[in-house]
Amino acid sequence: MKSIVLGYPRIGEKRELKKATENYWNKSISEDDLSSVTKVLREKIWKTQDDQGIDLISSNDFSLYDQVLDMCITLGCIPERFKDLNGLEQYFAMARGLQKEGVDVRAMEMTKWFDTNYHYIVPEFIKNQNFSLNTEKIANELKEAAELGFKAKPVIIGPITFLLLGKEKQKGFNRLELLDKLLPVYEALIKEIDAIGVEYLQIDEPILATDLSSIEQLAITKSYECFSNIKSGVKLILANYFDCYGENLELALKLPVDVLHLDLVRCASQLDDILCHKSFNTKKTLSLGLVDGRNVWKNDFEKSIAFIQKAKQKLKESNIWIGSSCSLLHSPLDLDLEENNKEIHSEIKQWLAFAKQKLEEIAILKKIALGQSNDFVDQIFEENKIANKNRRESKLIHNQFVKQRIEALTDKDGKRNSPFLTRQLLQKATLSLPVFPTTTIGSFPQTKEVRQNRAKFKKGKLSQEAYDSFIEKETEATIRFQEEVGLDVLVHGEFERNDMVEYFGEQLDGFVFTQFGWVQSYGTRCVKPPIIFGDVCRPTPMTVKWSSFAQSLTKKPVKGMLTGPVTILQWSFVRNDQSRSTTCNQIALAIRDEVCDLEKAGLKVIQIDEPAIREGLPLRKNEWKMYLDWAVGAFRISASGVKDSTQIHTHMCYSEFNDIIESIADMDADVITIETSRSEMELLNAFVDFKYPNEIGPGVYDIHSPRVPTQVEIENLLDKAARLLPYENIWVNPDCGLKTRDWPETKSALENLVQSADKMRNKLSQLV
Ligand code: GLN
Ligand code: ZN
Repeated sequence: MKSIVLGYPRIGEKRELKKATENYWNKSISEDDLSSVTKVLREKIWKTQDDQGIDLISSNDFSLYDQVLDMCITLGCIPERFKDLNGLEQYFAMARGLQKEGVDVRAMEMTKWFDTNYHYIVPEFIKNQNFSLNTEKIANELKEAAELGFKAKPVIIGPITFLLLGKEKQKGFNRLELLDKLLPVYEALIKEIDAIGVEYLQIDEPILATDLSSIEQLAITKSYECFSNIKSGVKLILANYFDCYGENLELALKLPVDVLHLDLVRCASQLDDILCHKSFNTKKTLSLGLVDGRNVWKNDFEKSIAFIQKAKQKLKESNIWIGSSCSLLHSPLDLDLEENNKEIHSEIKQWLAFAKQKLEEIAILKKIALGQSNDFVDQIFEENKIANKNRRESKLIHNQFVKQRIEALTDKDGKRNSPFLTRQLLQKATLSLPVFPTTTIGSFPQTKEVRQNRAKFKKGKLSQEAYDSFIEKETEATIRFQEEVGLDVLVHGEFERNDMVEYFGEQLDGFVFTQFGWVQSYGTRCVKPPIIFGDVCRPTPMTVKWSSFAQSLTKKPVKGMLTGPVTILQWSFVRNDQSRSTTCNQIALAIRDEVCDLEKAGLKVIQIDEPAIREGLPLRKNEWKMYLDWAVGAFRISASGVKDSTQIHTHMCYSEFNDIIESIADMDADVITIETSRSEMELLNAFVDFKYPNEIGPGVYDIHSPRVPTQVEIENLLDKAARLLPYENIWVNPDCGLKTRDWPETKSALENLVQSADKMRNKLSQLV
């Protein structure tokens, strides 16, 4: 029996990697300085795992930016435009682009790693491209580990996951056609690793957790058969995670690998499926992913032991490994760092385990499974039982009032009083907006001053009164600005908000916040997701004060601004003792109460942002419907408590609607604002083909760049939109919030936006 961890967070306790890398980028430290920081980090990572009793610790899971980008370098999969660069300059140019004298290269694309919030660099492929092996990183890390006395297991991304996660950059070929050129490079890699004397190699193929075509399945079989023909002493661990093998199980069981890793957190039933499967060879080792790599909760040892017992009925002890469900990259680093965090109740603290604590869990589980108990093991086991029992029964979690409300929910709670067309008439009468009404998505520039004042207030260096009057001043100036520019539906500007989830989480019961619970999101960017530990409820209104203050300043309608239940859920660590849909409905009820209070306070337009609805989609298509049903249902609960004449907006900022457009329509928001400017309105096709029934604001300029769109550009986009959609349903707005922009460009851009809308109205009046 072995204990195994699939990978470990690399950012460091104090985000040392982030700081060093950013310092390197702005040239305040040298490449040598950067590499000494990373060397120390790796040593600490290995030592921690070893100290905690992990048998198989990883190497090559460390990365300066991203492990898929590292794999591109290892396999020589480097797009032509970077070929003149080398070393770190090339590496970071691939990640972030490079602009300097005579060089102007665009970065590679970045996208979400499966259903996590981690973003990887998307490999680029062209027809007949060549690959070439570069083992510098892998070999160096192995050498470094060996010098410290650690026998590390390198981790690489498997050929099919690598190919399928990438993109063809030329038409007329399929990237799987490159497999024949890619496999020899992998073979050479395995041989080199063998020569170094490595015993185990972990090959990650999480693509096995998705739907694969028969050609893709064949490509998997072909690859691993090819690896098994190599004369080498390296034993292969095939790691799948984030879901079960599903339809790919039969094939996975037949692959000539030594160890098969299963994520039993995401899919508990697969252990039975495997043990009973006719193609399962009991000589194979199963690595049981029992400790959740993607959440913050303490493992339930009794449940885990039950899994191990089950495996023991069919397998020799030596063929059972105990591990993390996936890489621990997705969990915060160390709960001990929260020692002085008074906001997390000590009772709640005992329910938590971050990456470092998860190592101990894995090691202890192995000892229990082997019957190697001693006082220490017994004590930890006992503590684990008590903590889990306490968590089930704790008063902190359970709120009968919330549970009763959830029980009492009926279809009616997710339905507006009247259908859209009736509401539309009433809203037109109440709001008296012109055609092509103009609005923004919510936030206005978060200047240095705004951020500094908030930080000072948080640290207690600025009084509540002083802070409030600062926010008042900013809000008022923003209202005046919007009036002057001539926008139709105004916003308050969100100056009081740090982050669109944190702001709400901080005011809701059932949430706690860590001080150091950072998780890598992409490159040096880290996020600190809130933890939803208990029933969610809203003790007092959260946004009414600032929204109604803004409304009191103007005769024009101000749009209340809320984050939707699915987005709050999606960007938090969620409790695992009830279904996600139940937790989501609890959040939905809290938002619903807020929506109703905003209405009572006189706001006639309320926006509920749901930028994360798409990223919650399960990895396998047959599970989509179930998710979309509850996610859309939760949004509807949050939006349906108001009068017909109150206008509900929603906002989403991503680019793929085609496959979920029906569900988007099912949300039944009166107005949806979406990103479209970067694709020149192409995205609208989904809405047009589907005949999207409600009002829609296709973003007419890209807020991700400081570039000010000209009036003509915006008008052209609006012309396009008006040819595709009924003009009376069209809104005019930027494609996302303006918080990352500066005032001067925001002013010019919005002036142009308002003038373009005017032009459109003129054109229309000449027509009728
Ligand atoms: N209302 C938010 C803002 O304007 C929306 C942010 C988002 O879509 N991610 O900042
Ligand atoms: Zn957005």
